Amino acid sequence: MGHQQKKDFFLPKSSGGYDASKAPGPPGAFHCPCCGYRTFPVPPEDALAYICPVCMWENDVFTTSPDAPSDENHGLTLDQGRKNFHVYRVCDPRLAPYARPPKPEEFP
Ligand SMILES: [Zn+2]
Repeated sequence: MGHQQKKDFFLPKSSGGYDASKAPGPPGAFHCPCCGYRTFPVPPEDALAYICPVCMWENDVFTTSPDAPSDENHGLTLDQGRKNFHVYRVCDPRLAPYARPPKPEEFP
């Protein structure tokens, strides 16, 4: 009897084309680069001018280094913002009245 050999097809394994960490997630799925709480609804690199409600850091997609002054944050660097957050719970003490405490679901 003519038995036709069945060929197995293998789908090519994805080789780094899809990054699950960059998939859109629910609000609060992404960490703020400054305070570290999960306040970002989209990955920080996509969060153009998003202001973190906890530390008031304005996301800066143009400044790539933590020690580079951020125009979005009046020349504050991300490093300075982080240090300020440790002391004042806000990236810039002047913005303290606008910041709010993190919600339980936003804890890292
Ligand atoms: Zn923050």
